[in-house]
Amino acid sequence: MVLTEQSRTQRLERRARRIDAGKTTCRCMGCRGGHMEIVVYFMREPDGPVKIGITHVGAYDATVFTVEQRRRSVERASGRRMVLLGTVPGSRARETDLHRRFAHLRTVGEWFRPAPELLDYIASTTAGGH
Ligand SMILES: [Zn+2]
Repeated sequence: MVLTEQSRTQRLERRARRIDAGKTTCRCMGCRGGHMEIVVYFMREPDGPVKIGITHVGAYDATVFTVEQRRRSVERASGRRMVLLGTVPGSRARETDLHRRFAHLRTVGEWFRPAPELLDYIASTTAGGH
């Protein structure tokens, strides 16, 4: 069977909804204790590539984990200024799904070209980064 572009999109949307309906925690102590959750974040260099990744947010063992901390650590690692575009509740499966969905824009690892379709997707999906 040949999949049309529309049915492929519908399939991806259905899968994203299934993943969204799933759990947003992992088996680490922080998540098991209900104190932390996983979010998928989108951040980018100003006028540069977009990074799609996951991180924990919440508090565990007297340490608070925030997306802002993750942004700063990516900044330090890459040596580039980073801007947070937004986050969605997530899981590793959701991150993998997004990496597949935008695979045609991938440059290396978790980095993607800032094409309008990706930026539009982020703007319409995320809670915003500000
Ligand atoms: Zn966890």
